[in-house]
Amino acid sequence: MTTANYYINTPLFKSHQLKKQYGLDVVYKMDCYQPSGSFKIRGMDNFLKELYGQGYKKVIASSGGNAGYSLAYVGQQMGISLRLIVPVTTSDYMIAKIKLLGAEVEVYGANWNEANDYALQISKEYDLPYVPPFDHPFLWKGHSSIIDECALEMKEPDSIIVAVGGGGLLCGVFEGLLRNNWLKVKVVTAETEGAASYAKSMAAGHLIELKEINTIATSLGAKKVAAKALEYASQFNIEPYVTDDNSAFNACKDFFNEYHTLVEPACGAALSYVRNNHSKINPKEKILVIVCGGVSMGMEKYLAYSKQYQ
Ligand SMILES: *Cc1c(COP(=O)(O)O)cnc(C)c1O
Repeated sequence: MTTANYYINTPLFKSHQLKKQYGLDVVYKMDCYQPSGSFKIRGMDNFLKELYGQGYKKVIASSGGNAGYSLAYVGQQMGISLRLIVPVTTSDYMIAKIKLLGAEVEVYGANWNEANDYALQISKEYDLPYVPPFDHPFLWKGHSSIIDECALEMKEPDSIIVAVGGGGLLCGVFEGLLRNNWLKVKVVTAETEGAASYAKSMAAGHLIELKEINTIATSLGAKKVAAKALEYASQFNIEPYVTDDNSAFNACKDFFNEYHTLVEPACGAALSYVRNNHSKINPKEKILVIVCGGVSMGMEKYLAYSKQYQ
């Protein structure tokens, strides 16, 4: 059984920019510094350790985003090979990055659902484990280490800002909050308008499936969140927050100018909360933003978006 962690403990950085601009106390949990560029490596590290323990040497998955990229990264380190099925919508940029880590990438299907159905079929056919992108307790357990690390360095904040796609990160955050007894904190769930599956489900009181995804924050593009993410909600004080693509992108730009690290618009959704709500925030509040990262926006895409989203 392998015991090394392939993710790293990331630092907490104060935002001097937001302090100066709005007089607010904001700290960033810098998971954009993970070797795979996002928090997803935490969950994949834990998931593959479980499979490695059971003797598996090859897995199947279907994410052409950060889940696939982090899985390929950990797999390569552990000696577990990956066959990844991605839909035609996956960028050449991401396919090249994932192949660089030694994964076998096959393009199939018009969208993620079609690619995923095919991945599930192959996993049954070859009797190989299927690794999901967000809806699994092994992933949540891995993600929950993010809160353990914060709790070693800071007191319970007043608010914590978390981006929500399928809700895997959110479930990990809830798990970590419970374990560390951070039960009073307000959890702000950040999404963009074209991917607001969590905010819509919270408003309805039951799981809502979106008809389509329409946002540049592609990593938030799950039509339906994990059921557990909604179940946990009754135990916490939650503020669903929805922003637009322009503000998510411009928050990435501000963050780049402050800490010189490029993150995805998915992460920008969380980063935009303080900019867009500063007038409503009590200056005594301590705010923790999970900088979830993401590698799908390279420099070329960044430059194109910066023309489009002034
Ligand atoms: C996956 C991802 C998210 C959303 O996480 P979920 O677990 O799907 O809610 C947000 N930001 C980035 C950069 C991601 O890779």
